[in-house]
Amino acid sequence: MKIALQGLLPDELRELCAAAGESAFRGQQLWQWVQAKGVTRWEDIRNLPGKLKETLARTHTVEPLKMLKESSSSGGTRKWLMELDDGETIETVLIPARTWTTICLSTQVGCKMGCAFCASGQSGFVRHLSAGEIVAQFQLVAAFAGRRPDNVVYMGMGEPLDNYDDVLKSIRLLNHPEGLNIGARRITISTSGIIPGIRKLATEGLQVELSVSLHAPNRELRRQLMPIENKYSLPDLIDACRDYTRQTKRFVTFEYTLIQGVNDSPAMARELARLLRPFPCRVNLIPLSPVEEFAGEAPPRAAIEAFQRIVEQHGVSVTLRASKGQDADAACGQLRRRQAR
Ligand code: SF4
Repeated sequence: MKIALQGLLPDELRELCAAAGESAFRGQQLWQWVQAKGVTRWEDIRNLPGKLKETLARTHTVEPLKMLKESSSSGGTRKWLMELDDGETIETVLIPARTWTTICLSTQVGCKMGCAFCASGQSGFVRHLSAGEIVAQFQLVAAFAGRRPDNVVYMGMGEPLDNYDDVLKSIRLLNHPEGLNIGARRITISTSGIIPGIRKLATEGLQVELSVSLHAPNRELRRQLMPIENKYSLPDLIDACRDYTRQTKRFVTFEYTLIQGVNDSPAMARELARLLRPFPCRVNLIPLSPVEEFAGEAPPRAAIEAFQRIVEQHGVSVTLRASKGQDADAACGQLRRRQAR
């Protein structure tokens, strides 16, 4: 497969141009086109010699993704199915808020983690995305939406910390001051709980936000919902998150998908609060988005609010994420599964 130019840092582009017999300055021009201007077609790169473009195009691409399909929700969420160079597909979502937009990026084709309520988890793992394929999602969505997303969340298809090196490189690219210059605090990495990845991330000197999916307040239930619990246990995960906060001075957000009759009881709200109270963090409650492959439902509004109240009363900060985009197949992996069928 060709290497996506969106995944190369300025030094790497300079070296690439030098290896093709051109001055390093051409690499700087290429960086401007690919990162600052966000071109996604060779013909839009105008001030490079045609011969250099021809040479580079043998091994590299500026078009690692093609838009296949868009679905929109009444709330304004837009979701795109994109095709990669090898014919595989991924999903990218753009979520509007009052005055900003958030893009949700995929990091793998499929996912190994097998969470019970996730269409991506049910489809199995195919491959990692390269840093270029991750950054190109941002560039392509910005071009289609007609505006640059303000925030970036790594919460699409795949487990970001299972593709650590390419995800980290994509963050350094998005954050680069001479490129897209997305502030690190506007970038959130979400993980199902890969402890070595959390510990490594804490040492990177980045100010990115960390979000950890819990979905259960105890090991028994978490094991049923998230097979990763068999490898990285809840107590060890909480320890790693506490260390992360200590080292980075950044609060961790714990994602908790509420499923009626499964993890939404008052007793579980108290158990969750007891688990998290000892250190500063936030809980983000998310009513379940319906997935064909999972029989669960979101609890009624009153039960969600009662759960939120109990956790708050026990001294843990809680937000309730509005469920957006259900008519846009917004739950992770749904659009891709439908297309595959
Ligand atoms: S929820 Fe995230 S980690 Fe779990 S299977 Fe889906 S994509 Fe993977």
